[in-house]
Amino acid sequence: MDALKLPQAPWDGDGALDAANHELEQMTTGEVMQWALETFAPHITLASSFGAEDMVLLDMWAQSNSTPIDVFCLDTGLLFSQTYALIAQAETMYHITVQRIRPRISIVQQANEFGPSLWSHNPDQCCQIRKVDPLASHLTRYQAWVTGIRRDQNANRRTAPLLGWDPKHGLLKINPLAKWSYDDVFRYLKTRNVPYNPMHDVGYPSIGCEPCTLPVTGGQDPRAGRWQGKEKTECGLHL
Ligand code: SF4
Repeated sequence: MDALKLPQAPWDGDGALDAANHELEQMTTGEVMQWALETFAPHITLASSFGAEDMVLLDMWAQSNSTPIDVFCLDTGLLFSQTYALIAQAETMYHITVQRIRPRISIVQQANEFGPSLWSHNPDQCCQIRKVDPLASHLTRYQAWVTGIRRDQNANRRTAPLLGWDPKHGLLKINPLAKWSYDDVFRYLKTRNVPYNPMHDVGYPSIGCEPCTLPVTGGQDPRAGRWQGKEKTECGLHL
C-alpha cells in the first residue's frame, strides 16, 4: 500500500485531509485499519463501547496481526452486565487488556454532589462527568483515535469522514466503518464468528449506560433508544 501524504498541523484549511480521504475512500476497510496502525502506532488508540461496530474493529485489528494498539472503554460504572461480560470475553479472546477509563467520582459521590439519578434530570452533566471529561483526559497522550462511527447511525454522523481532525481533542480521528451499514456490521460479525452483545438481538442496536438505553422498534433511528424522551442524541464524545 502506498503511503498517504498526511497534512501538517494545524491540519485544517489546506485541503490535505480531503486528499487523504480521497485515497482512503478507495481502500478496503481492512486497508484503512492497516494504514492507521502502521502510520500512528504506538500513538493510536481504539475507543470501544463494545457495541457491534467496536467488535468489528477489534477483530480487524487482531487480524492485522501486527502493531499493538491501546483499547479503552469509558467505564461509567453504569454499563449493562452484558457489556461488562463482553469486555471480559474480548480480553480473553484477543489477549488484550482493555483500559477502563473511569470518572473522577463514583456513582455514590455523584449522587452526594448533584443529587440522585443525575442522568434523569441533567444527562448532559452526567455525560460530562462520566464520559466527556475522562475521554478528553485520556486522549491527550495520542495522535489519533479510532472509532466505530457510521454515517447512517443518525443525522449528526451523516458526514463523518474516514479521516478527520478532531478539534475538540486535538488529534486525528479515524472512522474506518463510516461507509458501513448495520447489516454490513452483522454480516462481518457472523461470518467471522465474532462475539457481540446479545442485547443487539433483542431490540438494542445501540447500547450505552443502563439508565439511558431502551430498545427500539422497527423503523426507528438505531440510536432512538438512547436518552428516550429527551432532546439529547449524543453523549458529547463525537460532537
Ligand atoms: S449515558 Fe446516561 S448514565 Fe451514562 S453518562 Fe450519560 S447520562 Fe450518565
